[in-house]
Amino acid sequence: MQKEIMNNDNTQEVNNERKIEIHKQCVFCHQMKTVYMTEDEYEKYELHAAGVGLIQEMLPEIDKCDRELLKSGICGDCWKNMFGPAPLEQDEDGEDNNEEDNE
Ligand SMILES: [Zn+2]
Repeated sequence: MQKEIMNNDNTQEVNNERKIEIHKQCVFCHQMKTVYMTEDEYEKYELHAAGVGLIQEMLPEIDKCDRELLKSGICGDCWKNMFGPAPLEQDEDGEDNNEEDNE
């Protein structure tokens, strides 16, 4: 479980929406990547970091590659290098919004 996440986050306007900017370094290429998410998504992200739920269900709007970076600390480019062009999560297409609020 990755714990070195949300150290240096801040908020930023993206498409007229306030987004939280998360910086995460890829564990393989050591590039610093930036992921934007809403406050709501960030709350779910924190929950996931605490071991709750599946990241693809909690952050369905986040790009697959970004999710993988958040989850495993491996950026999209490194995934492609290791596993080919298809990300490992195949279960998001055709899936309806299944918002589960576990509070
Ligand atoms: Zn990388």
